[in-house]
Parts: sequence; structure tokens; C-alpha cells
Amino acid sequence: VVFILGGPGSGKGTQCGKLTAEFRRMRHLSAGDLLREERKSATSQGEMIDQYMKEGRIIPVEITARLLKQAIDKDKHRFDVFLIDGFPRNMDNLRGWNEIVATDVNVQFMVFLECSEEVMTERLKQRGETSGRVDDNEASIRKRFKVYQSETMPVVLQFEREKKLRSVKA
Ligand code: UDP
Ligand code: MG
Repeated sequence: VVFILGGPGSGKGTQCGKLTAEFRRMRHLSAGDLLREERKSATSQGEMIDQYMKEGRIIPVEITARLLKQAIDKDKHRFDVFLIDGFPRNMDNLRGWNEIVATDVNVQFMVFLECSEEVMTERLKQRGETSGRVDDNEASIRKRFKVYQSETMPVVLQFEREKKLRSVKA
């Protein structure tokens, strides 16, 4: 597993798409996409996911880690490398990962997409014109940046301390 992290709009999904187009044994798993998929199927849980996303809050790791584990299990015979995009988003996500998924897989490192808030905001607003996402609007974008700074950056710094961080100018 390689984790791909960066702020909202830093290009995590885009870069993962480019990598998997080139390297056939790589599989891209977007935690956000898995949650959006899950939102469609489960009713009460679906509303909860929607609400969390609108507010830019992080969904309880029990849900996300289960989805990731299922997705890895399903494809582990066809792929060597899983790019996991948008996760772990806070320290509790990392704890949940270690409890629920980590025993079966090997995390090599984290790729961090460095990007200014100015550029990210511009991209998200543009994406919002067509994405249909509940959180690509100015109010949600502001909340997502806050959560990213306060909750996600500590995870990035943790990987840096462990010498498992590779930064890329995005
Ligand atoms: N999300 C979450 N846990 C994850 C990934 C995503 O709770 O592991 C939620 C969170 O509310 C986030 C939203 O899904 O703001 C969208 O995440 P995504 O990675 O799709 O988009 P980004 O904000 O990085 O552009
Ligand atoms: Mg994304």
C-alpha cells in the first residue's frame, strides 16, 4: 500500500489515475469514492455520510477501514500495489487502519501532494461546476481546509518523522 495525501483539490485522484494508467499492477482506491458509493447503498448510514461530507468532517474509521479492507481483499490477487487516496485523514483513522487492515498489508510510504490553498480553492470551485459533490461549494471548502490543517497534517508529520514521507509539488 502507498498512501496518497494532500489537501482537498491537491490532485490526489487525478495523479492516482495517471499512475494506474501507466502501471497495470497498481490499483487506485479512493476512500472518498468508496464512501460516496456506500452512501448510495445504505440508507440510514448514507444520510450520516452525506452530513459528514457536507461539513467536511471525518467519517468514523470503522466504516472507512471496512470498505478499504473489502476493496483490497477483492482485488489482491490481481494487483501488487494499492494506492489509497485521501486516507488516513486523522490520527484515529491511522489507529483504525492498524487495528482493522494493517495485519494483512504492508504500507511502504506516503506520497504528500503539496499545494497552496489558493490553487486548491480555484480547482475545487471549477470542479464544483460539474462534480455534483455535496462539498464542492465555498462553505464546505472552507471547512475541509480547517479539518485538513488540524486533523490531517498531524498524520503527514507522523510519516515524516518515521522517514516514510515523499513530498511532491502539486
Ligand atoms: N472522507 C472521510 N474519510 C476518508 C475519506 C474521505 O471521512 O477516509 C470524507 C470527508 O468528509 C471528506 C470527504 O469524504 O471531506 C471527501 O473526501 P475526498 O478525499 O473524496 O475529497 P477531498 O476533500 O480530498 O478533495
Ligand atoms: Mg479525491
